[in-house]
Amino acid sequence: MSSKYTRLDRFISRHFKINRKHVRLMLAKKRVSVDGEVADNIDALVGPFNVIVIDNHVLQEQRPVYIMLHKPLGFVSANMDEKHPTVLDLIEQPHPVSLHIVGRLDLNSTGLLLLTNDGKWSKALLSPQNKITKCYTVDLKNELTQQYIQAFAEGMYFSFENIMTQPVILTITGKKQAQVLLKEGRYHQIKRMFGRFRNPVESLHRSAVGNLHLPEELKPGEYRQLTAVELADLNSLITRAEKNSDNK
Ligand code: URA
Repeated sequence: MSSKYTRLDRFISRHFKINRKHVRLMLAKKRVSVDGEVADNIDALVGPFNVIVIDNHVLQEQRPVYIMLHKPLGFVSANMDEKHPTVLDLIEQPHPVSLHIVGRLDLNSTGLLLLTNDGKWSKALLSPQNKITKCYTVDLKNELTQQYIQAFAEGMYFSFENIMTQPVILTITGKKQAQVLLKEGRYHQIKRMFGRFRNPVESLHRSAVGNLHLPEELKPGEYRQLTAVELADLNSLITRAEKNSDNK
């Protein structure tokens, strides 16, 4: 789904396949409203979640939806897959809106996965500039040493992408267990980082995205909408992150 905003006159002209002169006339005659307010400004921008009405005829009335899902083992974070069930198979169908996944988890990873129809929101959560922290619990085959902490904090060179990873905070929580805080989401990032130590990841669980934690009562395979408070808290984190990234 697109997160793009478009001019109101262009939106209406495309919708009815009429020229924009005609649309301007409609606006001037105050026949159009956006979110319940009369709209007469041809330069006004509208997005996918503005309610647009002309002469009591609703042109667009889509609501944003924000869902958290506890991803179980063995499900693919994709819309379709030939071999495995997908996380979208867990969502009751038919779902009234078309959802997309915000930041994938690997087939054998578990934990907090977000789904939405709001492209602007998912882009903000995933943007490496915004540095929204994702928290993982990782179980490893071999024992950890203090060297890991420094190596993860310094970043690692990924030749395929030709990038240095941003600093990663690793806390050793058991002989073979760590908590990892990532601020970006490169392909198989955690497995590749432990791979540098030839230490295979045995299990990987995402427990939080920013200030949103996977609730204990949400069992693998279950999902629910974010509460108003959870959404407001996450949105204020995004706003702060966007301000910080603008200042740099
Ligand atoms: N890093 C990985 O390697 N896998 C995931 O699922 C998430 C982060």
